[in-house]
Amino acid sequence: MKRVVTSGDLTQRAMRPAGLVETYLAHVQEDIVRFDLLQGARTRGCPACGGTGAPEFERFGFPYHRCAACRSVFVSPMPEEHRLARYHAEGAAERFRLEQLLPATADVRVRHAVEPRARWVMAAAVAHLGPGLTMAQFGVESPRLLEFLHASVSVVQWPDTLTGDPARPRIHGAIAFDVLERSTDFSRALHGCRLALHPRGLLFVTTMSGEGFEVRMLGRRTAALVPPVHLQLLSRAGWVAALTREGFTLVEYSTPGELDVQAVADVCRQESDLVLPPIIDELVRHKDPQVGRALQELLQQACLSSHVQLIAEAGIDS
Ligand SMILES: [Zn+2]
Repeated sequence: MKRVVTSGDLTQRAMRPAGLVETYLAHVQEDIVRFDLLQGARTRGCPACGGTGAPEFERFGFPYHRCAACRSVFVSPMPEEHRLARYHAEGAAERFRLEQLLPATADVRVRHAVEPRARWVMAAAVAHLGPGLTMAQFGVESPRLLEFLHASVSVVQWPDTLTGDPARPRIHGAIAFDVLERSTDFSRALHGCRLALHPRGLLFVTTMSGEGFEVRMLGRRTAALVPPVHLQLLSRAGWVAALTREGFTLVEYSTPGELDVQAVADVCRQESDLVLPPIIDELVRHKDPQVGRALQELLQQACLSSHVQLIAEAGIDS
């Protein structure tokens, strides 16, 4: 199976500027209280495989469980949909993210995320399906991604409530970047992707991993983990279970993340009560920056970074 490994120069400071991230997370915590997100929340099983989870850590009052069967991480109890809708539509955190955080990091995200992802999608789509393709991006609109993709494929924007409307023509590729982990009904969202695709069509996903290094080492201290935005972080086994249920086949799975080791090292420096396995502690705090880069590359090779990209192929009877 193809696996993407990178050796970039991305820094935690450039992608996640500390001052802006702190302000954003303060707004997130205020909005959680303002919209009373934990009120009426419902207990649930693993959204990937249906297994039973045990509490692993709590962040901003949200219990994150780890599935005993597939090791995916998920929020339970799950907030009510109408409260989450208000959080996203009316909250100060989302407004700050859109108006301050994203513009401040736009250039670095284009260079390190948007452009490489566009190249990845175009190369895989043409290799698997040939030219003349129609694709849909669903979730948050990314004009820069669409610009890059329009060079070789036709792409339309679909809402993140995509349900595979039978009245719509089917597409060759569905792009779900950083969106499925936010879905209040993960199974319905994945089912919508399958209904939207031609048989043999491709689903492109980027997301956070529940079994990645950053989340496993830091748990509740993971700065990039934002409840109620991140509701499920699937493991590889979780993805296989969920995709198989929908008739998809996993054809590529990589974790080309560049920031796990830097993120863990930052928290180690700031929070003296964080206890890591001694040899991991020694490696992430190592004075030689090449050691950190080598460890990050090893995580990519082992598919254990916290940033996942995968491709799944729809079955012929879908
Ligand atoms: Zn599971």
